[in-house]
Amino acid sequence: MTNKLIAGNWKMNGSAAANAALLQALLARAHDWSCAVAVCVPAPYLAQVQALLAGSPLQLGAQDVSAHEVGAYTGEVSAAMLREFATRYVLVGHSERRQYHGESDAVVAHKVQRALACGITPVVCVGETLAQREAGASQDVVRRQLAAVIHDNGHCISEIVVAYEPVWAIGTGLTATPQQAQEIHAVLRAQLQAATTAHVRILYGGSMNATNARALLAQADVDGGLIGGAALKAADFLSIIEAAGATGSGPVPTRSAV
Ligand code: PEP
Repeated sequence: MTNKLIAGNWKMNGSAAANAALLQALLARAHDWSCAVAVCVPAPYLAQVQALLAGSPLQLGAQDVSAHEVGAYTGEVSAAMLREFATRYVLVGHSERRQYHGESDAVVAHKVQRALACGITPVVCVGETLAQREAGASQDVVRRQLAAVIHDNGHCISEIVVAYEPVWAIGTGLTATPQQAQEIHAVLRAQLQAATTAHVRILYGGSMNATNARALLAQADVDGGLIGGAALKAADFLSIIEAAGATGSGPVPTRSAV
């Protein structure tokens, strides 16, 4: 059995001073944690945060990675570069990347390959828009998004983390009900189980907060949370971490649990 994973996605927020204050408040409570915790920070802050997290149980994550290995790709950051900062996780295919940067399922699958090749655990984000949910297509959409990643990554699929993030719930204050989350997580679980015998963590993300976290995290197939807005407030993020600790363990995962 293992613990859950709570990952904060800072998005394009922060400053050197604000990061230091937030991490200081989080680390002051780290001895209480009984789940894995990570923060996915903007690339310019990787060095700062790596230094501040040294020797702590709080793990470092990035928010994106290039689909290319090296070369003339202005503005991009490679997986090898992320690795130099001891980056443990990287978000891949976040809906804001898919929506604002036109990332296709194929690009997302390539990014997953690049991260895995450098020993970084990709947190693969999938989720349907409101229109897709209203059209009854939620399950088909997430299956299609995950299928592209499974197809391109074969036996390495045991090394990923999946995050179900309904687009209509991200940053909107609307949250999937625990039942809605569990329904999609069960679909993703079945798809993953057909691809690997290893336990792959499936996180829920989308307006998770101090109030709703416990009910979401108590669902059978919810192995943790990907937290946006609430990860920027130490007290809220700590409440979610506490809820994850209180809602118990799942089966033994692969590298992603370390
Ligand atoms: C996210 O951006 O991954 C996210 C879950 O955001 P929020 O918690 O703010 O909805």
